[in-house]
Amino acid sequence: MKQIGKVGTVCPECLRSIEGIKFVEDGKVYIKKECAEHGAFTTLISKDINHYLKMEECFDVDRARVKAPLTDVNKGCPHDCGICPSHKQDTCLAVVEVTDRCDLGCKYCFADSTADASSDPDMDTIRGMFEAVKACSNDPTCVQISGGEPTLRNDLPEIIKLAKEVGISHVELNTNGRRIARDQDYLDSIKEAGVDAIYLGFDGVSDDVYMQRTGKKLFDIKAKVIERCEKAGIGVVLVPLVAKNYNLHEVGKIIEFASKHVPTVRGVHFQPVFYSGRSPAEMEGRTTILELLEEIQSQTSGQLKVENFTPSLMPTAHCGATCLTLVDDSGFIPLTNVSMGAIKSKSDVANKTKKSIMGRWKGSTPDLQPVTKPSCCDLLTKTALSNASKTEGTSSCCEDPKNTIPLETIPMESSCCRSSGGWADFIEMSMNKYLTISTMAFQDVWSFEKERVENCCIHVVTQDGKLIPFCNYNLSNCNGDFLYRSKNNKENKTIGIEK
Ligand code: SF4
Ligand code: SF4
Ligand SMILES: [Zn+2]
Repeated sequence: MKQIGKVGTVCPECLRSIEGIKFVEDGKVYIKKECAEHGAFTTLISKDINHYLKMEECFDVDRARVKAPLTDVNKGCPHDCGICPSHKQDTCLAVVEVTDRCDLGCKYCFADSTADASSDPDMDTIRGMFEAVKACSNDPTCVQISGGEPTLRNDLPEIIKLAKEVGISHVELNTNGRRIARDQDYLDSIKEAGVDAIYLGFDGVSDDVYMQRTGKKLFDIKAKVIERCEKAGIGVVLVPLVAKNYNLHEVGKIIEFASKHVPTVRGVHFQPVFYSGRSPAEMEGRTTILELLEEIQSQTSGQLKVENFTPSLMPTAHCGATCLTLVDDSGFIPLTNVSMGAIKSKSDVANKTKKSIMGRWKGSTPDLQPVTKPSCCDLLTKTALSNASKTEGTSSCCEDPKNTIPLETIPMESSCCRSSGGWADFIEMSMNKYLTISTMAFQDVWSFEKERVENCCIHVVTQDGKLIPFCNYNLSNCNGDFLYRSKNNKENKTIGIEK
C-alpha cells in the first residue's frame, strides 16, 4: 500500500467532516477514512492508477468564483453550502427542480414519485430560485429545469418564460420525454416559451432496459421525442443512467443511435449510478468512469478509445471525461486524446462549460447556428490541439480566417482540420456531424472528496434560494438521511429506494 495524498471527506455514518488518505494497492486507487465514533471505511475510486494520474496530467484549468456568495462560512465544508465564500468555482449549470412528482416509478431516481401537485413550488418561489441564480452567479447563466418530471406541470411554458424574463441565458429541460412524445402542442408551447435544449433520459435502445427500470416499454417514445425535436429544431442530449446488470452492455448501441441522429442529438451524457439514499447492498451496479470508457471502447470496436476521453472542463480531473467526435459514414473521428497533454483553458472552467452548454447542446435549426457557430478551435475546447501546432512552428488554421495555411504544414495528429476536404468540409462536418460523449462521476458518501465539491460548478437551487453543489445536495449517509436534499423536502427521506 502506497499513500498518494490526503483527502478531506465525511463519515458515511454521521456525515461529520473527517480526514482520509488516498492510497494505491495492486494498481488500484482507494480512499481510506476513519471516524472516531464509527470506525474505518475504504472505498475504491479508480481501478487503474495510471489512468487516474493521466487524467490529472491532462487537467489544467483556471477558476472563477461566484459573483456573490449566499451563505457564511460557519461549520466548514461541506456544511456551509449555499454558496459560501470558501467555494472556489462559479456556477456553470444551475438545476431548478420544479416538482417532485413523476409519471414513472424508476428503480434509480432521486425524485419522490408519490408526491402530489400541492408540494410543487409556486411561481413566486420559482422566480426566487431563478433570481438566486442571477444574484449569485456570473453571466451568462444556464439553468436546467428538472424534477421529478417537469412536464407534469401544465404551467411549464410559463416557468420557462419566467426564467428568460428574470434574465437566465440558457434554459434546458430535463425530461423522460413521455409528454413531449404524445403532445405536440405541449412541445410547441415550450419551444415558443424559449427552451434551448432537451436533456432526455435515454437508458438504452431496447425495451428490455426500460422494462427493467420502469416496467414500461419506452424506446419508441424516446425515438418519437427525437423526431419531434428534429422538426422543431431543438437540440437533444441523451442522458443514460448507467449501471452494471442494467444497461452497461448497451452503451455502444446508445452512441451508435446518437450518431445516426446528429445534429439533432448533440451529445450523450452518461451518468453512472451512485449511492444516494440507497442501502449499500443496492450499489452492486455502480461503475467507475474507467470501466464505462472501457465498455465504450469495446462496444464501438475501438473506434472510440479510452484515451479519446480527456477530463471534462469540470472542477477536477476526476469529475468527468469527455470525447468530442465527428461522425461520418465510416464511423467516428475522435478529436480528443489524452496524448495532447494538459487542457489549456483560455477562460475559467465555469465560463468555458457554460459556452459549451450554450453552443454545443443548443438547437440544430439553421437560424440558431449563426448565434452559436463555433470556430474550428472552439469546437475543440481541448485547445491543446491547436497549441500543439503552435509549438511546432505552425499556426492554427483557426487563427487564419482565410485558411491560407496549407493543411499539410500542420501535423496530422495536431491539426484542427483533419477531414480530407480541408477547412470547408471540416466546418460543415463540425457543425452538422459532431457528437459530444461525456460522463460525470458523481460522488457519494463513500467516495466523497471535499476538494471536488468546493470546486463544483453544478449547483442545485433550493426553494429558499440557496445554491448547493450537486454532489452535496444528493449526499446521504448510509442510512439514507440527506445532508441537504431532505431539508428542501422533508418528506423525501427515502429518495432512491426502489419503488
Ligand atoms: S461545497 Fe462549496 S458552498 Fe458548500 S460548504 Fe463547501 S465550499 Fe461552501
Ligand atoms: S456534481 Fe459532483 S461530479 Fe459533478 S462537477 Fe460537481 S462535484 Fe464534480
Ligand atoms: Zn462518524
